[in-house]
Amino acid sequence: MTVMNKKISTYLSKSLFIRGLQCHKSLYLHKYHPDLKDEISEKQKNLFQSGVNVGIYAQKLFPGGVEIPFDDVSLSKQIKRTMIEIENGTKVIYEAAFSYDNVFVKVDILRKTENGWEIYEVKGSTGVKDVHYDDVAVQYYVLKGTGLSVSKAFLVHINNQYVRKGEIEVDKLFTVQDLSNDVIEKQKSIKNEIDKMKRMLKSQGPNIDIGEHCTDPYDCDFCGYCWKHIPENSVFNLKGAGPNKFDLYRQGIIRLEDIPKDILPQSQRIQLEGTLDKKNITNKAAVEEFLDTLWFPICFLDFETTFMVPLPMYDETRPYQQVPFQYSLHYLEKENAELQHYEYLAPAHVDPRKELLDKLLNEIPENACVLVYNKTFEIGVLNNLAKWFPEHSDQIENIIRNIRDLMIPFRRKDIYRWGMGGSYSIKYVLPALVPELSYDDMEISDGGIASNAWLSMRDLEDLDATERIRKALLAYCKLDTLGMVKIIEKLKTICNST
Ligand code: SF4
Repeated sequence: MTVMNKKISTYLSKSLFIRGLQCHKSLYLHKYHPDLKDEISEKQKNLFQSGVNVGIYAQKLFPGGVEIPFDDVSLSKQIKRTMIEIENGTKVIYEAAFSYDNVFVKVDILRKTENGWEIYEVKGSTGVKDVHYDDVAVQYYVLKGTGLSVSKAFLVHINNQYVRKGEIEVDKLFTVQDLSNDVIEKQKSIKNEIDKMKRMLKSQGPNIDIGEHCTDPYDCDFCGYCWKHIPENSVFNLKGAGPNKFDLYRQGIIRLEDIPKDILPQSQRIQLEGTLDKKNITNKAAVEEFLDTLWFPICFLDFETTFMVPLPMYDETRPYQQVPFQYSLHYLEKENAELQHYEYLAPAHVDPRKELLDKLLNEIPENACVLVYNKTFEIGVLNNLAKWFPEHSDQIENIIRNIRDLMIPFRRKDIYRWGMGGSYSIKYVLPALVPELSYDDMEISDGGIASNAWLSMRDLEDLDATERIRKALLAYCKLDTLGMVKIIEKLKTICNST
C-alpha cells in the first residue's frame, strides 16, 4: 500500500492523533487515500450529532464564555482569535484552538483560574474510557508546548444516574473528573507517539493487517478496503461465543469450511453446518412445547423507543434511558378469528409516555397472552412505564406476567434455518421462515434508525417529509408484529406436518 508521488503531510489534529494511536495505517490512508473510506452510516452521523449537542450543553457548566468560531474559519485564524481572547483576559473560552509541534487541537472548554488554565474535554459517554486519557493528554501537550500555563485537565462526561426533574440541572447531568495526574504521566509517551506517526507519514506506508484494533476503540472507516480479502462466509460471520476469530485468522483459518468443527461450541457448529450443507433443524417436540405455553386471546406487541439520547428529554427520565414513542399490536381473539391491528405513534413534539400507555392499557385485555420478541426489552419498557405512572402499575405488572417470548425457540435452536446465518434476531428469523416478509426494502429497518427518524421530525417543518417518516415508522413497527403472527402460523404448520 504505497502512494506514488504523495505530498508529504505530517500535520496532525487531535482526531488524527487518536486515529493514529488506533492504527497507523488508518492515519496513513486518511492522509493520502481518503477516497478509500467507507460511507458514513446514519448511526455514525447520529453519534456525531449527539456528541456535538452534549458539547454545546456542557458549555453551560461555565456560562458567559466566548466561543472561537470554526465553521469555514481557517485553523490559523482560529488560533489567532484564541490568542486575542487570552490576551484580552477572557476567563472562559469555548473551542479554543492551539498548535504546537505540528499538532492542532481544540479545547471544548478552557477556563482561567488563579492557578492557571484548566482544560475541560466533554464526552457523551457515561464514564472515562482509556482513549479519553490520550485525548486529554495530547491537548495538555500542545497547550503546554505553546507556553500556556495549564494547571489542570478534566474530562466531563454524562452522569447516567441523573434523573431529570423540571429543567435539566447541568451540574448534575455531568460528572467532572480530574485526569491531571494521569495526563501529566502520559506526556513522554504522547511526544513519542507523535514522533512515530510523523516518521510513519514520511515512509511508504505501514504494513498492518486487520485485527482487534479495527473496531477498538472506534469502528475504523477503512474496513471496506482492508477487509476486502475476507470471503463472504468466513470465521468473522460466526455468531455468539466461541473461539477467538482473530486467533483463527492469524492461523490462516479464514473460510468457514476451514474451521475444524470440534473446536466450535454447539450453536456455532449448527451455524457452520447450516451454511455449508444448507442444513436445517426442526425439533418439533420442543416447538410444540413452546406453542403450548401460548393462549387466546393473544396480543403480538412491539415497542419503538428513543435510543442513544444523552440528554434526558422528559421529567423523571435519565440520560440514555429508552423512552417508548410507538407500538404496534396485532390481536387475535381466538383461533381463526380475524386478525386486528392497533398502533400508536406519538407526534414528535410531545412527551409520548402517558398517551401511549393509556391507549396500550385499553387495547390489551386483562387475560391476554402477550407475545413479544426478546422480552427483556419489552419488559424493561413496561417496568419504566410502571415507575413513571405508578397508578397503573398493577395493570402493567399483569401484562408483564402474561408476556411470552417468541425468541426462545430460536435462541435455543429448537428451530433453525440455514438462512438465519447463526442469528436469532427477528431480522434474520423472519425472512428465513417467511420469505415473503423481509426488512430489506423498508425505509426504516432497525430500531436505531426508527429512533433517529422520530427524533428528526422534531426539527421538520415540511409536512410532506413528516408524513413520509410517519408512514415509514408505522410500516416498520407493524412488520415486527405481523412478522410474529406469521412466524407463529409457520411454526404451527411445521408442527402439524408429518
Ligand atoms: S481497517 Fe483495520 S487495519 Fe485497516 S486501517 Fe482500519 S484499523 Fe487499520
